[in-house]
Amino acid sequence: MFDLGADISRIVLIAFIFSAIEQITQWRPQQRLRPLWRQDLLYLALNGFLIQVLTIGGLSIFVLATNPLVPPTGKAAIQALPLWIATPAAIILADLGFYGAHRLFHASPLLWRFHKIHHSIEDMDWLAGHRVHPVDQSLTKTLSLGPVLALGFSDAALAIAGAIYGWHSVLLHSNTRIDFGPLARVIASPRFHHWHHANQPEAYDKNFAGQISAWDLLFGTQYLPKTARPKVLGVDDPPPAGYGRQLLYPFASTARARRSAKNAEPENVSTPAQISANVAACAQVNASP
Ligand SMILES: [Zn+2]
Repeated sequence: MFDLGADISRIVLIAFIFSAIEQITQWRPQQRLRPLWRQDLLYLALNGFLIQVLTIGGLSIFVLATNPLVPPTGKAAIQALPLWIATPAAIILADLGFYGAHRLFHASPLLWRFHKIHHSIEDMDWLAGHRVHPVDQSLTKTLSLGPVLALGFSDAALAIAGAIYGWHSVLLHSNTRIDFGPLARVIASPRFHHWHHANQPEAYDKNFAGQISAWDLLFGTQYLPKTARPKVLGVDDPPPAGYGRQLLYPFASTARARRSAKNAEPENVSTPAQISANVAACAQVNASP
């Protein structure tokens, strides 16, 4: 399951290929050793294991819970699909789950604390794209891959779809001018995803898809001006720098939020007199004809 040698080879290959792509087709001028590169290198080296462990746990629970809902004949039919149908179908379906999970991480203040780590990227490149909280990544993967696994897609289709997702995701975060022209409205391009990271009001809560930008088109959340590219990336209130600090940040800020809610509690507590007044008022409303 965990193959350290294969993981290291993959990282070296990604570093080599995407450094070359960024050199040849650079989007924004950037120092090679930009701020926070050491922190992002730690994400690349250490985060994968945590994400795998949490995702396996999440997927096991998801598949066990949904298994009785999928009829065995339906599963067998999906399993028997030829790869050329099963692979794109798995990608499209998994990305619908990704879209929903990603939108949830933006909409929920609690989940945003985890996702904000990823949105703190101000210098976009293939390495910075790995800056993601393990809770964010594993929950998103569970909601994205869970339905695909539960429906019975074959291991081969899942392996190919997973590999395509991995490379596509690194490309989206690269500091590259590569764009897919009009096709970017349907398949996510780096420019499409750079806009998702823009700290500009017109692009807030837009472009949630990880691969199939057509989901954003369908749900009305696509923002892709003809040729313009974002000017400012990041968030107004970034988390503190440092891998360890960022791992703890969402939990610390949750505890802080709880504390301040507790301090604010007395204002919300009703006195016995207020309670009986409210009960009386309700009784009156109920008694009204
Ligand atoms: Zn996001």
